[in-house]
Amino acid sequence: MISLSAPEVPVPAPAEPGRTVTPTEHRAAAVDRAATAGPLAVLGVPGKVNLDYAATAPCARAAADAVAELLPWYGSVHRGAGALSRRSTLAYERARQCVADFLGVRPDDSVVFTRNTTDALNLLARSLPPGCRVVTFASEHHANLLPWPAGTVRLPVPGSAAEAVRAVDAALRELRRGSGGGAPVLVAVTGASNVTGECWPVAELARVAHRHGARIALDAAQLAPHAVLDIATLAVDYVAVSGHKLYAPFGIGVLAGRADWLDAAAPYLAGGGATLAVGAATHDVRWVDGSARHEAGTPNLLGAVALAAVCTALGEADRAALYAREQSLLARLRSGLAALPDVLELRTFDDAAPRVGIVSFVVAGRDSAAVATELARRWQLGLRDGLFCAHPLARRLLAEAAARSGRRDLPPTALRASIGLGSTPAHVDRLLTALATLG
Ligand code: PMP
Repeated sequence: MISLSAPEVPVPAPAEPGRTVTPTEHRAAAVDRAATAGPLAVLGVPGKVNLDYAATAPCARAAADAVAELLPWYGSVHRGAGALSRRSTLAYERARQCVADFLGVRPDDSVVFTRNTTDALNLLARSLPPGCRVVTFASEHHANLLPWPAGTVRLPVPGSAAEAVRAVDAALRELRRGSGGGAPVLVAVTGASNVTGECWPVAELARVAHRHGARIALDAAQLAPHAVLDIATLAVDYVAVSGHKLYAPFGIGVLAGRADWLDAAAPYLAGGGATLAVGAATHDVRWVDGSARHEAGTPNLLGAVALAAVCTALGEADRAALYAREQSLLARLRSGLAALPDVLELRTFDDAAPRVGIVSFVVAGRDSAAVATELARRWQLGLRDGLFCAHPLARRLLAEAAARSGRRDLPPTALRASIGLGSTPAHVDRLLTALATLG
């Protein structure tokens, strides 16, 4: 049975006699309500605590309501003349506009619906112009590591944001020198690490890339759910996101960005909806330009509409306050973990680097999978264990944690706790108590 999880929706504490509730307390309570009630309330099962938002965030009420409202009108998209089909087509294209507004795309950018971030980055990889070189980091999620062509420059994991900027600068200078400056280049980086939550210096990297005549693609799978992301302000050329990490259901993602490479590329999927005209001869096909070129087949209408509903709800919310709320939960989590003698946090940058609500750690002397199982069984806590589809980074950070701490009993994989809308201090405290009393 699915129900809205709102067991801990806070209300302003009743003023003790002689004390009135302060404006700050009122605002904090309003922000808590925005994060745990209303359109941004998340669905869940009472008693089960999801601390795995980085893998898949729970579905927001805005998404569930949008789907329920559209279901009776469910019809073919871009195919039929009937009322249901026309309404579905309109809903699909409106969804594209909502997502475009949420991401702050430029007027001539393409917004292509994909299955997820992996799909979006694979689409971009298939759309690179001939001879394009790619520069990325070894610290990327596999989705931003594996799709790129042979000859991709994989920079070592940097020790700081400034080092990342210097490394990209040097790599781009080298590529320019090697190619005489003519070949297209794409820098592909994450906005926030799915392992450490650390934020990358995206705007600075974009400036450096553009100074060298390169483009930059942002893997925003982990950044977009937590922080305001504006393509035009960051001046990135492409952004990839996943709906299921943004409080919408599975199966929908987005690649947004410069239209020219996408329009010049072969369609990602060959089939109906991507064509202008098809002749009798095998290769006699004219393809459309724009988003439809890469969206052949019947599209995921419900996914697009659900994602758009969350984008609209987030767009109308006080994002700065939601960010501050999450940061306060994150600080509670990190300081609680730091106080546990056998727990070591994994990090790439220094302790004070900006982060979103993701923390990976190990419990010395304990197998991470066994700890995750105990947390689930005894405490109803859902965390992830493993190497988080970022094997090179996770292995390196585990080795660094061992070297830093001098401990020889660290496990070969890690645990990850990640939070978002719907997370509460009680969830964080339950994890900390559970870790303090591991069986
Ligand atoms: N990039 C990052 C930073 C991620 O965290 C993830 C998912 N863990 C992905 C890309 C891939 O997302 P998806 O599985 O939705 O394609």
